[in-house]
Amino acid sequence: MQLHRQSLTAYAAPLCETVAECPRPTGSEVLVRISRCGVCHSDLHMQDGYFSLGDDKQLDVRAGRTLPFTLGHEIAGTIESAGPDAPGATPGSSVAVYPWIGCGQCPACRVGEENICTAPRHLGITVDGGFASHVLVPHPRYLLDYAPLPAAYAGALMCSGLTAYAALKRLSERAKRAPLLLIGLGGVGLMGLALARAMYGSAPYVADIDASKREAALAAGAQAAFDPADAGARKALLKASGGIYAACDFVGSDKSLNFATGVLAKGGKVVVTGLLGGAYSTAVAMFPLKAMSIEGTTTGTLAETRELLDLVRTKNIAPPPIVERPLASAQATLDDLRAGRIIGRVVLTV
Ligand SMILES: [Zn+2]
Ligand SMILES: [Zn+2]
Repeated sequence: MQLHRQSLTAYAAPLCETVAECPRPTGSEVLVRISRCGVCHSDLHMQDGYFSLGDDKQLDVRAGRTLPFTLGHEIAGTIESAGPDAPGATPGSSVAVYPWIGCGQCPACRVGEENICTAPRHLGITVDGGFASHVLVPHPRYLLDYAPLPAAYAGALMCSGLTAYAALKRLSERAKRAPLLLIGLGGVGLMGLALARAMYGSAPYVADIDASKREAALAAGAQAAFDPADAGARKALLKASGGIYAACDFVGSDKSLNFATGVLAKGGKVVVTGLLGGAYSTAVAMFPLKAMSIEGTTTGTLAETRELLDLVRTKNIAPPPIVERPLASAQATLDDLRAGRIIGRVVLTV
């Protein structure tokens, strides 16, 4: 059986099709035939080989990956075959794949936080992922039943949905006091908007520099939308909200974080999930004077993924706008994402 992939064969170069022999699952491994794989902003950083840290500094992320490499971590598909020690892996079952797989040994993994493992086996990041016909998963416990959701939605929940959910959970105490602020209404932000309404029952404020994304957020039930590039936005939001207690920065740039911290009430907290890049500085005294918290998160745990799937199913949370494109358009989709031409989520069909 052949494995077809849209491969990263060199950094900062376009993906191209490669064909290899399909791996055979051994031990507890499961081979999943992919039907859908979402395209995520972090795929761009992996393709570049670095994250921008601001001030012309870069974080090199090329280590620990051999080329050709398969990007893609928002995977759904069906079980093709399984090794002899893969309990419950029934061929033909539809599954979403939890991609944030850890070593199982380190202090983070031991408490279930495989997403922040020190020696990760994250699919599409350090181990071959989902822009392909098949993916090899080390154990069936990472395979999640997603019925009755559509496969494209289930895939997108594994990263953008999970990231938004885990960030929102970290704001739960403050989100009960007053409406949240969500900054950056791309795939993660729009998912965050839907989840926030279901989790906390109030309509969040949103901010995005892109008018079409603000409109999409308002159509999806945001309370009010602000353009952070507008000089009056900070004051207008402070006036409307009386100060924000809980903000999610889904952009992760100097501008977005400055905007978030600039509208906080005393005791306010910002959770940063975005990775756009930039450097943030502030007077240290602002932390105690404003009783301010800034916390970072990256994706979420396997347990949180199960909670998220349950939440989406029980509260009937509609997916963000999803556009399906064939696997061969992986590179065109990355180009569109880089140019900011995508609203919602693009999911590749295999
Ligand atoms: Zn992602
Ligand atoms: Zn680990």
